[in-house]
Amino acid sequence: MRLSRYFLPVLKETPSEAQIASHRLMLRAGMIKQSSAGIYSWLPLGFKVLRKLENIVHEEQVRAGHIPLLMPTLQSADLWRESGRYDDYGEEMLRIRDRHDRDMLYGPTNEELITDIFRSHVSSYKDLPLTLYHIQWKFRDEIRPRFGVMRGREFLMKDGYNFDVTKEDALHAYNRHLVSYLRTYERMGLQAIPMRADSGPIGGDDTHEFLVLADTGESEVFYDSAVTDISLGERDINYDDHAQCHAVMKEFTALYARTDETHDEAEFAKIPADRQRSARGIEVGQIFYFGTKYSDPLGARVQTADGEQVPVHMGSHGIGVSRLVGAIIEASHDDKGIIWPEGVTPFHCGIVNLKQGDDEADAACEALYSSLTALGLEPLYDDRNERAGGKFATMDLIGLPWRITVGPRGLKNGVVELTSRRTGESEELPPEQAVEKIAAIYADI
Ligand code: ATP
Ligand code: MG
Repeated sequence: MRLSRYFLPVLKETPSEAQIASHRLMLRAGMIKQSSAGIYSWLPLGFKVLRKLENIVHEEQVRAGHIPLLMPTLQSADLWRESGRYDDYGEEMLRIRDRHDRDMLYGPTNEELITDIFRSHVSSYKDLPLTLYHIQWKFRDEIRPRFGVMRGREFLMKDGYNFDVTKEDALHAYNRHLVSYLRTYERMGLQAIPMRADSGPIGGDDTHEFLVLADTGESEVFYDSAVTDISLGERDINYDDHAQCHAVMKEFTALYARTDETHDEAEFAKIPADRQRSARGIEVGQIFYFGTKYSDPLGARVQTADGEQVPVHMGSHGIGVSRLVGAIIEASHDDKGIIWPEGVTPFHCGIVNLKQGDDEADAACEALYSSLTALGLEPLYDDRNERAGGKFATMDLIGLPWRITVGPRGLKNGVVELTSRRTGESEELPPEQAVEKIAAIYADI
């Protein structure tokens, strides 16, 4: 993409309404624009990151054996009356009446809808196990929407639902989700720690929240600092292997890590004093096992091998896709702007032309642009007639992890400059080598 033809409405001033870095930076970098309280338009740069996160979530869900579908945002109130949650859900549910006076709602979550799909089409144990998920907009009429996309009213969530004949299978689904979520966040360059949590209005007895540690997080958390030393890394996971998923779940949840609702001072005191931590965290996902809480009242049953009718065991699992954009920025920025992890960056690298209009500089930039593009990479070429300082400031603000700087002086010696946004370190090298280096960095991402 050439910046002269792109739509990147960066702001010079720091917007006064933004209280935290990610919100400020998303507005300044032209990623989002508020349309009303807690509701945002995703401008091209923000939309690109959102799509990247969605893709990672899809890939990891499919890898774990889960099946994508798409349910609507608007739902009929009838199903929610059947489950008993229409009245329970409270003020956060946006209730709407259609022209025929039917009660509708903008879905805050989809347990009822998915259970209805399930009960209409599945009746035998032979069709299980089954996990269906979608990535769809949700609406929760939050009393205090704030921090930009972190606590919006309309937000994008991946929500998945598992259906199993036995509790044991459903617990495997729980473990499988836990492991696949770890992989999902790691690919986004994030460490999200599974912490034992409270189940809230979803209900059920087993639940973990995934938290990204950040001072601006809304949740208070308590943990053993050793939890931050574990990572999935390149481990091979067989998602059908109950024992392996169980072992990984155990490994990641054995140490004390809890949200404040489940915090236990006596247990916490048993951790060696130098490893006890209390901090703030951003909730970027949650998994639940709730057994037959919805399948019972909604009549989602299957016939077992013995011919018996049993309600299915279920769980639900959510990832806050739009919130993650903010969470990644909270975890990765400096005073100049965003620093995207390679796995989610909107463009793979920037090209800065120090002397637009200079034949040699222009030609070198064009050559870099086409070589990178030919390799399947997406560069953002700042081809505007701007001062170098302004171009650097924009690149730093929007946070592309790599920048190639091209100017007549370097070209005389046959070199361009390759700069890492994260470390600020630069090296001079021939243009072809800069391309090779960038291609190598992204080769296994
Ligand atoms: P919170 O405690 O932050 O209100 P929740 O526990 O009610 O969230 P879940 O029902 O677990 O949310 O939804 C799954 C994920 O969706 C959450 O982990 C979070 O990342 C995201 N999410 C929830 N509410 C919002 C919101 N208002 N804006 C953006 N993302 C949200
Ligand atoms: Mg939650």
